[in-house]
Amino acid sequence: MREIILLKLGELVLKGGNRRSFEEKLMHNARRRLKPYGKFQVYTRQSTAYVEPQDESCDMDGAYLAMERLFGVVGIARAYACPKDLDAIVAGAREYLAPKLTAAGSFKVESKRSDKTFPMTSIQISQYVGGELQDAFPHLKVEMKRPELTVHVEVRDYAAFVHADPDPGAGGLPVGMGGRAVCLLSGGIDSPVAAWMMTKRGLGLEMVHFFSYPYTSEAAKEKVFDLTRKLVPWCGRLTVHVVPFTKIQEEMRRVVPEAYFTLVMRRFMMRIAEQVARRTGCECLITGESLGQVASQTTQAMACTGAVCTLPVFRPLIGMDKEEIIRIARKIDTFDTSILPYEDCCTVFTPRHPRTHPKLEEVEEAEKDLDVDALVAEATSAIERVYFSPEK
Ligand code: ATP
Ligand code: MG
Repeated sequence: MREIILLKLGELVLKGGNRRSFEEKLMHNARRRLKPYGKFQVYTRQSTAYVEPQDESCDMDGAYLAMERLFGVVGIARAYACPKDLDAIVAGAREYLAPKLTAAGSFKVESKRSDKTFPMTSIQISQYVGGELQDAFPHLKVEMKRPELTVHVEVRDYAAFVHADPDPGAGGLPVGMGGRAVCLLSGGIDSPVAAWMMTKRGLGLEMVHFFSYPYTSEAAKEKVFDLTRKLVPWCGRLTVHVVPFTKIQEEMRRVVPEAYFTLVMRRFMMRIAEQVARRTGCECLITGESLGQVASQTTQAMACTGAVCTLPVFRPLIGMDKEEIIRIARKIDTFDTSILPYEDCCTVFTPRHPRTHPKLEEVEEAEKDLDVDALVAEATSAIERVYFSPEK
């Protein structure tokens, strides 16, 4: 018997077929993420997924870190698997949890018995194991309300498991359960957070980045790749579609009145992102816009940019303050990369006095001298795809 990882599954409101597809997606995602760490068996029983290493060479620390980033999991614990025998359970707990039992001042035992043929009730198991552990660690006080350590004993079908309090899991829904989306990824703080938030709600992502060489440098593109690498542990495999945007921006500079420049540019981004969505089987778009943050993120401006798409546009940061966004960026470790000082194509030709309350007719008028379809087709046909995988 050996150590395993237990994943407590979330979204308990899900019922019937949804519940099954939740579990299947979650297991599929878990198996893929575990690949770099050795051979594991993954299966679910009663709202718990079991991650069992198949041999001694498995990297349990790496696997644990990977599972902490698996959406759909609300709690995660390393557990000791032992035979379904009280003395084996006590011996297992005493040895496996020794460092924690030594460090804690107070404890309790909480038992669950899903194997109803086991000859003791949960309460009897807790009392017995608790008594034995107190004999072995006499400094420990039993504390039912707020113990420093809770020893969990689970008697299941094939084995018993002993573990300490679970760590919080990533929450959300398994990636892919909500369909697929194209995320517009700049090098800034906001869009990686938007990508993470929607992945958390079960969307599988394709990344689109607009690149205006030589106005934006190779280093700026590398920064977007670095951000993508940071997102892969949460999102799984990702493809970045790098769209050459220079010609569109130069054409715009030639014919579009300066005040409408950002709006027209953002409309191009949305059109091209939608094309990528159609080609890759995505059903919605995601941006990192937040209401009122910049001139192009007013209600009227977003109405003008959204007007070129037929797919729904999700803006998960719309009601968030910068501080709240930064808190998430730090948590997912994208912040330090995002603040590196490289230019974005949005900042290359910024109007001095952008229109903040534009009307759709004005914006359409501003772009009337552009051959929009041809520019979109040309940029789309020259997309470069770069692949990122947790298995690398
Ligand atoms: P961010 O921090 O994500 O760059 P921002 O506050 O700087 O956002 P804008 O530059 O106005 O805002 O961009 C708004 C949104 O448009 C971004 O969150 C992103 O989704 C998309 N976007 C902007 N620039 C690019 C780009 N070069 N490639 C892909 N998407 C982009
Ligand atoms: Mg930006």
